[in-house]
Amino acid sequence: MKLAARVGQVTPSLTLIISAKAKAMKAEGIDICSFSAGEPDFDTPEHIKAAAKQAIDSGKTKYGPAAGEPKLREAIAHKLRTDNHLDYNAKNVIVTNGGKHSLFNLMLALLDPGDEVIIPAPYWVSYPDMVKLASGKPVIVSTDDQSGYKITPDQLRQAITAQTKLFILNSPSNPTGAVYTPAEIKALAEVIVEKDILVVSDEIYEKIIYDDTQHISIGSLGSEIFARTIISNGFAKAYSMTGWRLGYLAGSAEIIKAVTTIQSHSTSNVCTFAQYGAIAAVEGSQDCVEQMRQAFAQRRQVMLERLNAIPGLITVKPDGAFYLFANISKTGMTSLEFCDALLEQERVAVIPGIAFGADDHIRLSYATDTPTIEKGIDRLEKFVRSHL
Ligand SMILES: *Cc1c(COP(=O)(O)O)cnc(C)c1O
Repeated sequence: MKLAARVGQVTPSLTLIISAKAKAMKAEGIDICSFSAGEPDFDTPEHIKAAAKQAIDSGKTKYGPAAGEPKLREAIAHKLRTDNHLDYNAKNVIVTNGGKHSLFNLMLALLDPGDEVIIPAPYWVSYPDMVKLASGKPVIVSTDDQSGYKITPDQLRQAITAQTKLFILNSPSNPTGAVYTPAEIKALAEVIVEKDILVVSDEIYEKIIYDDTQHISIGSLGSEIFARTIISNGFAKAYSMTGWRLGYLAGSAEIIKAVTTIQSHSTSNVCTFAQYGAIAAVEGSQDCVEQMRQAFAQRRQVMLERLNAIPGLITVKPDGAFYLFANISKTGMTSLEFCDALLEQERVAVIPGIAFGADDHIRLSYATDTPTIEKGIDRLEKFVRSHL
């Protein structure tokens, strides 16, 4: 049997492979400190779970409209208007099976073979593969710790060709935690408008930011950039709802209609009663979001201080998300060698930077408790010191 050529063009998600290996070791009873989590370690807030349970009991268990429950699309549009200053209505919103699904749908709706998509590296693991699965061509633009892992307007301009269709902006970033300042976003927006390309803004970590960091949505900077922006967001990170599979995409009615058509022939609507949990999430008190944010802020401080005390590792202080991205080049190892040896020798799980297009880095998630952070960084320190 011969599989489709597209299968050969993509790689299995490396982040999932390492977490799976760590989980398997844990299941065998091995004492693993895992910093591999790509999700909050908190339970979903009670009022959200209660709303979904009640929705089951009241019969919200049937097919619904492919683009989502009207009440949820309305609530999301309201959130985008008030939180993000984006002039969207319900018809500009589609509810999807997670932020990942949003982006995948969007690529299918926008890309023709040969269309180029500009992706700054380090990037979220799935972006390049999604583009390839939709027959597009990922164009990777590298950034490093010198620029705080942010693409400059000049780099963006230079990467744009006649084939460029889309630029993927992810602020706050997974894996680096970098957050673009309002001035930086504005400068990128100018290039996007001047060159007349589209931008998809992945804002899944917008609520997880620290100190006096500000999140601004690129589409809020004027009508010209608004017309070229698609927003991708979801409930997974802010509300600790990763397993619920709930995301959304917002954009022009034309794009949302196209994405809805695609979704209507693939997944149809998102689980109906889960959407009622999402309604409670957006419409209810946002205190739960703030509580989780504060816990992340404390752990970030602990982990960052410990990492900075390890000679041979370079870690830029992140302004958002729940990851630290450390440069390991002084160890002379590739990121896979490093992660494999660290797991085997010290029983610490971290994600190799190669998954994000940065082979001289590792990603550590601090979505775990402080004792685990202390213990795991002790082990990491021992490992790094013995490999310098
Ligand atoms: C987690 C994540 C998403 C979306 O995750 P879903 O669980 O599919 O909602 C999107 N982008 C980035 C950068 C993420 O880290």
